[in-house]
Amino acid sequence: MYNMQTTSRKIILPFVTSDLFGEIERLYSEEGKFSDESLLALHAVFGAPFERALEMLEKDCVTLLTTANDTRQALQVSGGRGELYTLFPNINFCPCLAYAHQVVTSRIHVSCKHVLAARLSQVMGRTTRKEASPEEVARILCLSAHADKSIEDF
Ligand SMILES: [Zn+2]
Repeated sequence: MYNMQTTSRKIILPFVTSDLFGEIERLYSEEGKFSDESLLALHAVFGAPFERALEMLEKDCVTLLTTANDTRQALQVSGGRGELYTLFPNINFCPCLAYAHQVVTSRIHVSCKHVLAARLSQVMGRTTRKEASPEEVARILCLSAHADKSIEDF
């Protein structure tokens, strides 16, 4: 029974979250703000990391690094203490410790505050756009992909 629930959670949850964000994006573009229903739905799915993501959005903490033709993109989210996390757009993964502990290992949460802040910032059109060369974007994404190794070495 437990395994069945875990499996369906794994299969169903990505669809629920992408449908939810799609709907919330549509409502935000119509109303220019998050409705109470949207906020409640987001909180029900994401919990405490969603609250922290909203706090982060008080500051403009998300930068989209993009090539001139938008073929390569990376998101950079600055955390509370000046640290910078690199994310792939629309991918639920973050190299932060909270993601490793609370999402991957203990499965307490569906995502971390950085992934949510990045997604919400894009919905709200509050992402700072910064143009970079394809090589620069690739270099930043590769560095981020190897971030776990440097943490282990540390
Ligand atoms: Zn994170």
